[in-house]
Amino acid sequence: MERIEPSRRNFLQATAGGLIVSASLTSADTNAAEAGPAVRVANPLSGDVLRTRAELSPDAQVLREQPREVPVVGKSDVLVCGGGPAGIAAALAAARAGATVQLIEVAGCLGGVWTAGLLTKILDSENKSGIMAELLRAFSERGSAIANQTNGTVYDPEVAKLVLEERCLQAGVKIRLHTRLVGAVTDSHRRVIAVLTESKSGREAWLAERFVDCSGDGDLAAHAGCRFDLGVGEACECQPMSMMALLTGLDADKVRPYIRETASSAKSLLLSLMEQHGMSPSYRGPTLRHLHSDIFSIMTNHEYGVSAFDANAISEATIRARREVHDLVSGLRHIGGPWKNISIVATAEQIGVREGRRIRGRYQITADDLAAGLKHEQAVCTAKFPIDVHALNTHGNKEISREFKQGGHQPYDIPYPALIAADVDGLLLAGRCISGDFVAHSSYRVTGNSVPMGEAAGRAAAVSIQRLVMPHELRWSEIRSSG
Ligand SMILES: Cc1cc2nc3c(=O)[nH]c(=O)nc-3n(C[C@H](O)[C@H](O)[C@H](O)COP(=O)(O)OP(=O)(O)OC[C@H]3O[C@@H](n4cnc5c(N)ncnc54)[C@H](O)[C@@H]3O)c2cc1C
Repeated sequence: MERIEPSRRNFLQATAGGLIVSASLTSADTNAAEAGPAVRVANPLSGDVLRTRAELSPDAQVLREQPREVPVVGKSDVLVCGGGPAGIAAALAAARAGATVQLIEVAGCLGGVWTAGLLTKILDSENKSGIMAELLRAFSERGSAIANQTNGTVYDPEVAKLVLEERCLQAGVKIRLHTRLVGAVTDSHRRVIAVLTESKSGREAWLAERFVDCSGDGDLAAHAGCRFDLGVGEACECQPMSMMALLTGLDADKVRPYIRETASSAKSLLLSLMEQHGMSPSYRGPTLRHLHSDIFSIMTNHEYGVSAFDANAISEATIRARREVHDLVSGLRHIGGPWKNISIVATAEQIGVREGRRIRGRYQITADDLAAGLKHEQAVCTAKFPIDVHALNTHGNKEISREFKQGGHQPYDIPYPALIAADVDGLLLAGRCISGDFVAHSSYRVTGNSVPMGEAAGRAAAVSIQRLVMPHELRWSEIRSSG
């Protein structure tokens, strides 16, 4: 791929010439937008909107929007899409390496599955240093006795929200919440130069020198035209989604045998209890965690065959899952005894999505790499978590689909090139959307790996700007040792 001198001046010229925008909201309220070159921006104080101008096709199957100008509202060195475990690490690392950083997140908080998804457990973080160790320390120090005993790996989502916002603000990261990335623009050299978002502020454009896709689902990369893989087999079967919930009304001492951290038998014991009382949870490994005082979390739901890219299907799954969690908790309450006061504090606002796009990178991590215990000279971290494919459908409904584990696994390296998009320049990946196959993804996707991946991608983005090269032109040893 041709190397482009990435000075700010050239970059902005390329951007100005390269925007190809498909939506077309124009103002019907004002002639100004139609008359002159100035881009009309809705005034947020007055609640003004830019109205849609469009034409309905004769068969009423398509609405043809007219072109419109989209205001450029941000220019940063590094733009990170998605503020989950990978995204906050990418943003922090890039900012701490001296870059100006814009973080764009669709939820109303940072943390992704950690917070909006009410996860409560960080896996595969024990052997990690850097930002992962820093966050675990903060979750532990600011959290409960349990967070302390588990070195921050069992954490309170509310503490996590606050810690992540504080860290990002301290590092100078500009945070835009409530904003969804809906498009990405490349120039004629296939370099990503801008992204488009939608929010209450309308449709907006953001420019940056480097982009990091931490959306989990690989939204930025897909919009930029990158190839990707999804699920397994011709039907692209994906792991199920799960709705998490916070509970109260339990005495930890009285339900201790059912608490995941207490015993490996806890899940099967809780399943047996539910089944004895006529309950049949869609997730056959119901997991109860004690967070602090009388607050617990539970995962007891699986939503099978739901595409992460079908808003109707996700909506239906969310409503179905919430109903199931409420029904199961109600069922537990009817058992009485230590369960008699159990109730739900909150179900997750975002159903947990295990799988989205796996973007093609400049290295693809495979099941063979896990079997062989890959040692790579450009390792950004080592993953130890086992192959963990949750049942893909209700047939047999095993907790884990064992067929995928046949190759076995050993600790393996996550190579830096797996974080670099193959098909465009200037785009890094981190978290569950990096380049890997179905089986490998089931292992490296956990958050103890997402954070070091994000840290590596953010640092690489910043260093590549300083060195006036594209991320794929650097080796990880140069990035790690720089600055
Ligand atoms: C139910 C469930 C249980 C799990 N259990 C564990 C566990 O116990 N421990 C563990 O460590 N891991 C667990 N995992 C895996 C882990 O949570 C994910 O793989 C991990 O969160 C990946 O981190 P990420 O930052 O890549 O993605 P995410 O956490 O999914 O974060 C992506 C972020 O991007 C935002 N986003 C997405 N699209 C856009 C867009 N277009 N525009 C703007 N923002 C966008 C999202 O709102 C989100 O904040 C579990 C996952 C699920 C679903």
